[in-house]
Amino acid sequence: MLKTIKGQTVIVTGGSKGIGKGIARVFARQGANLVIVARGEESAQQAIAEFHQHGFNAEYFLADVSNWQEMQKMAEFVREKYGRIDVLCANAGIFPQASLDDMDPENWDEVMNTNLKSLFLSVKAVTPFMKEQSKGRIIVTSSITGPVTGFPGWSHYGASKAGQLGFVKTAAIELARSGITINAIMPGNIYTEGLQDLGQDYLDTMAASIPLNRLGDVEDIGNTALFFASDEAGYITGQTMVVDGGQILPESLEALEGL
Ligand code: NAP
Repeated sequence: MLKTIKGQTVIVTGGSKGIGKGIARVFARQGANLVIVARGEESAQQAIAEFHQHGFNAEYFLADVSNWQEMQKMAEFVREKYGRIDVLCANAGIFPQASLDDMDPENWDEVMNTNLKSLFLSVKAVTPFMKEQSKGRIIVTSSITGPVTGFPGWSHYGASKAGQLGFVKTAAIELARSGITINAIMPGNIYTEGLQDLGQDYLDTMAASIPLNRLGDVEDIGNTALFFASDEAGYITGQTMVVDGGQILPESLEALEGL
């Protein structure tokens, strides 16, 4: 099952850290040719060095996902190097917090450009090549925050993540006759390097609010992306998958009492 990724060319934006790095590791382990995309060279180099230690075929391309020229260069680079682009994991994103009172228009634009406009740009950059192949898989890292839940300080972030799902539905129809599918993953709270600074008490409290009683692992998201990218998932497009350990299920705190 799911052996079809071997030898395929996979782009993971935001693949130098966190969830993107987890997605990249899962694909690389399956024998994919991996290109991770990020702005910072040091963390990209570190991620690639780690992948090479495991014998994975991986390299990085430095680009800002909110910049159209850079997204075009990314797609051309991958196409020139590998001759094809099989999978795009549009994962890069930011989540700065600002209350409505404190948020200024620049904060709003930065989050929208990085999380939502970037999805349009990266998809627009890779789909001409996927259309030539009459096949492609696009997997978007959205969130439960926005489409399902809210959290103070994240009105711009939530809007960007809900907006991604709106994009996915229409893009799925437009791309379908070219053999390209696009689906979105909606992660709950996933344990990444960035969360380590919040302290064990905070992490324990977060875990206690999740029915499966743990934060998600980056590879929980990677495994879901791998499924959406597989031939076996070829008849699924325009859909979403919540991967949150049941986090959105409890109606109230009482629903978790006595578990
Ligand atoms: P992270 O650890 O902060 O990693 C973000 C990655 O995106 C880094 O590789 C970063 O590299 C890259 N990136 C950020 N802005 C970029 C830009 N403008 N151009 C290119 N690359 C950029 O974040 P994460 O927690 O893994 O989150 C990844 C995705 O998952 C995001 O879309 C986020 O909304 C979503 N998500 C996360 C969680 C969670 O619990 N962590 C939950 C739900 C959804 P550079 O900074 O070097 O560019």
